[in-house]
Amino acid sequence: MEPFRYTQPKSVDDAISGKAAAGAQFVAGGTTLIDLMKLNVERPAVLVDINRLELAKIETASDGGLRIGAMVRNSDLANQEIVRQRYAVLSQALLSGASPQLRNMATTGGNLLQRTRCYYFRDTAYSACNKRTPGSGCAALDGFNRIHAVLGTSEHCIATHPSDMAVAMMALEATVHTQGPKGERTIPIDEFYLLPGQTPQKENVLEVGEIITYVTLPPPIGERSYYLKLRDRAAYEFALASAAIVLQTEGGRVSRVRIALGGVGTKPWRSREAEKLLEGQPADPARFKAAADAALQGAKPLHDNAFKVELAKRCLTRALRVASSSA
Ligand code: SF4
Repeated sequence: MEPFRYTQPKSVDDAISGKAAAGAQFVAGGTTLIDLMKLNVERPAVLVDINRLELAKIETASDGGLRIGAMVRNSDLANQEIVRQRYAVLSQALLSGASPQLRNMATTGGNLLQRTRCYYFRDTAYSACNKRTPGSGCAALDGFNRIHAVLGTSEHCIATHPSDMAVAMMALEATVHTQGPKGERTIPIDEFYLLPGQTPQKENVLEVGEIITYVTLPPPIGERSYYLKLRDRAAYEFALASAAIVLQTEGGRVSRVRIALGGVGTKPWRSREAEKLLEGQPADPARFKAAADAALQGAKPLHDNAFKVELAKRCLTRALRVASSSA
């Protein structure tokens, strides 16, 4: 780890000013950034510690939805009564991630900005990583790519987005609220993340100095929701495939549904193709399977991760079955 300067602003405005310094980075729970600093992947000249900002409230919004401060800890969000009852998919996704100790530290804003677990990104012994060093190549393309993405990849990067929470928020159609040198912005979560394309180092639409202040969730579009995560071990492990479902059925038919996948995409992956196939149709296993096929239609598997295509289909099919029968 290299030496850095440390500041602890008490207001959002001061935090934004602090971030204007060359090489400055925000730190909240530190569960990603400090790890990456120890590995020399991240080498900020200034750490702007935002833990004193008053952004740790969960409040009911005027539209009946929820307003979640960026500094709300993952464990507090997962166990909040309204979240457990009305946004079960979010609570389940949060509790499936990391460990209790990490969830006590990790924040809502930080979780959205988690960096990939690609081995080559996190190990500076490998010089080829376009995300770490733009233009250097991608060691994963011809390397061991079992955990890598099959959706949204490019010839420059195939890294998966690691968050569970963001997948649930994608299915809940969250909005990310930010503040920066140019003022405030509201960004639908589906427009927040960028595909790697030719610039995998740019992972989202945040501009320099811009900070996430809170996230809003609209009232859920359905009464039923479910998060299913498949992984190599039962705890403290990232998803190989996951599915977040928010669903409403009427008379045995799917009236409304939102679907997002994790562990398989370069960003939390909303599948409108699968949603379209299901809405207005009978909630039955054959439809669920067809929807899963549609969700993975554009998959581009590599030599070690081809199993993810079938795994993700089965994950989504099962999640839909559970969600549709959980009333
Ligand atoms: Fe780097 Fe992305 Fe390639 Fe991993 S997949 S080595 S993060 S460019």
